[in-house]
Amino acid sequence: MKQLIAALVAALAGIGIAGADTYPSRSITIIVPFSAGGPTDALARTLGDRMRQTLGQPIVIENVTGAGGTIGVARAVQAAPDGYTLSIGHLGTHVVNGAIYPLTFDLVKDFEPVAMIASNPMMIVTKNDVPAKNLKELIAWLKTNDGKATAGTAGVGSGSHFSGVYFSQLIGAKFQFVPYRGTGPALLDLVSGQIDFIVDQASNSMAQVKAGKIRPYAITSDKRLPAAPEIPTVDEAGLPGFHVELWSGVWVPKGTPKDIIGKLNAAIRDALADPAVRKRLEESGLDIPAREKQTPEALGAHQQAEVKKWWPMIKAGQVRAE
Ligand code: ASP
Repeated sequence: MKQLIAALVAALAGIGIAGADTYPSRSITIIVPFSAGGPTDALARTLGDRMRQTLGQPIVIENVTGAGGTIGVARAVQAAPDGYTLSIGHLGTHVVNGAIYPLTFDLVKDFEPVAMIASNPMMIVTKNDVPAKNLKELIAWLKTNDGKATAGTAGVGSGSHFSGVYFSQLIGAKFQFVPYRGTGPALLDLVSGQIDFIVDQASNSMAQVKAGKIRPYAITSDKRLPAAPEIPTVDEAGLPGFHVELWSGVWVPKGTPKDIIGKLNAAIRDALADPAVRKRLEESGLDIPAREKQTPEALGAHQQAEVKKWWPMIKAGQVRAE
């Protein structure tokens, strides 16, 4: 019996090693927890296109949407820990949602970090026929229309939602949140005037702002964006301290072998070093982390630091899920 078990263990170990050696031998799926056409989807597609070159296998993007991204993240965490299912997400999906939803898994312990990809502040944007011409006027308009103005979000707990809630609390006016399955469709409705505003990821709004289809007021940072230096920061525009930096990363289910994580990390680093990828991301307002911040350890440490920062604020009701 003992010999049999020993032989079985040896055989399984052999399979494990062979599996990592030949990885990847088939296509890899990245689960995007928001709609196609939105900023997380765009990031996954840009990254996936370039990762395919390094890994030599197709990268399939699967949009599994709903409940502020928790449905897609839950699907990813339940996948086999073999490097063939990746979870892309951000501060909302991999930090904030843990304080808002009764998740059946642990966002930190049940995933292994692979790499931080990019980050960007939020941009306060309205449909063009909102009468306000700057942030102070917008705040006054929102207060006058207390409880009436409509704010698009990607669902409770998403970046656009908790940033919108935070904004509402800071200015002391209520909004009607309109949930979408991602900010891609929310932005389309903003352009066509169906909703009034979005506290949106800069990378989502940038092209429509440049095309003059929506109006930007400020970005939630203390630094202007190199891609849109004409837009003031919230500190300059009249709402100092309203800072949100929405960073995105890639994770795999817990138990994924270290050398597979290493291969995925190397493919992401190759993508982030590629001048065409960098140009594309930077033009949309995204900031690419420095090389030393592109490690799995750096993403893990950042995610945990953000849990420590945001969870107490959310649980104390400073940033409420409404
Ligand atoms: N960035 C969006 C949010 O969290 C979701 C998306 O990527 O569509 O608000």
